[in-house]
Amino acid sequence: MKTYKFKLYQAKKNKYLHSCINASGSIYNHCIALHKRYYRMFGEHLNMYRLMKHIAQLRKRIKYWQQVGSQAVQDICQRIEKAYQLFFKHNKQGTKPPSFKKTRKYKSFTLKQAGYKLLGGNRIKIGKITYNLALSRNIRGKIKTLTVKRNSLGELFILVVTDHVEEQFGVVTGKIAGFDFGLKTFLTVSDGTEIESPLFFNQFRSLLRKANKNLSSKQKGSKNWHKAKNHLTRLHEFISNKRKDWFWKLAHDLTNKYDVLIFENLNLKGMKRLWGRKVSDLSFATFLEILVCVANNKGKTVHFVDRFFASSKTCSCCGYLNKELSLKERKWNCPSCNTKDIPRDLNAAINLQREGASSLGLDTVRLSQIASVA
Ligand SMILES: [Zn+2]
Repeated sequence: MKTYKFKLYQAKKNKYLHSCINASGSIYNHCIALHKRYYRMFGEHLNMYRLMKHIAQLRKRIKYWQQVGSQAVQDICQRIEKAYQLFFKHNKQGTKPPSFKKTRKYKSFTLKQAGYKLLGGNRIKIGKITYNLALSRNIRGKIKTLTVKRNSLGELFILVVTDHVEEQFGVVTGKIAGFDFGLKTFLTVSDGTEIESPLFFNQFRSLLRKANKNLSSKQKGSKNWHKAKNHLTRLHEFISNKRKDWFWKLAHDLTNKYDVLIFENLNLKGMKRLWGRKVSDLSFATFLEILVCVANNKGKTVHFVDRFFASSKTCSCCGYLNKELSLKERKWNCPSCNTKDIPRDLNAAINLQREGASSLGLDTVRLSQIASVA
């Protein structure tokens, strides 16, 4: 699967797409209301196919809804069903059922095989109208879905998902490594490599502060206030894009270098409590998602070790467990084998490598044999 994202050129006729998204929002809210009412009356969950049938009937009479293609309507019902299934599964962990959304905040509609046509060049026909998009790349593979999406600035994008599989064969290196996330050093690798975090937010923090200050000095709802708000939104988007670029690049570097990459299962809530806001700046979870995706493409393995394994409190040399070790102690000194001054994160990374390798039934010797065969 591959996703392409193209921006639509600003044009007057784009208002039809906005109207489609708004109508989708109206259908969405109607579905939510039906779900709620059905549950109140019968005490059970409304079946998705019954809902689809009902909405399809209703759509014949409501003209405003007819601009939304029938596949997009089905997609709305499926999205809601998915959200309910998540809620049934995880409500004890605090997942909420899907709820009403303001139409202005409703973001997209999705088509499957019908309702659009790529006309070549930079033109695309959606419904009966032809739009122009910034076609920055050739689309490869068979199109699975096409989504029209608007961001908080009201700009429109086309997201195309195809079945194309990029042929990337990773080079087998025979290397297995453990990784420890940190605040100063983004990643410490068990072979001693340190990857510094770029801390984009530090660089851009003063810009953000300025933009925030500027916004709060404007009268809420005024023209200048909207301008300042858009500026802030753009800035956030810019920073988040930069960070993602860096993550993709790093994920490619690491998967070129190592065959098996071992991480600790993250407890992000706990880390946030311990380290404060910076953790969200670094967004480890986003990086791991990207890394797993790249590794899968290249046939490499990302393995997670249970976080109850005491990676930082165990001696990487002799296995001695120091339960008393506090977060302040940045160097590992072992009272048992006299190992001294090993950086805390490196000690953890080495432990993760060993623990991960043994739980995968691998050892470094075997891996290098694989490498020599390949
Ligand atoms: Zn020791």
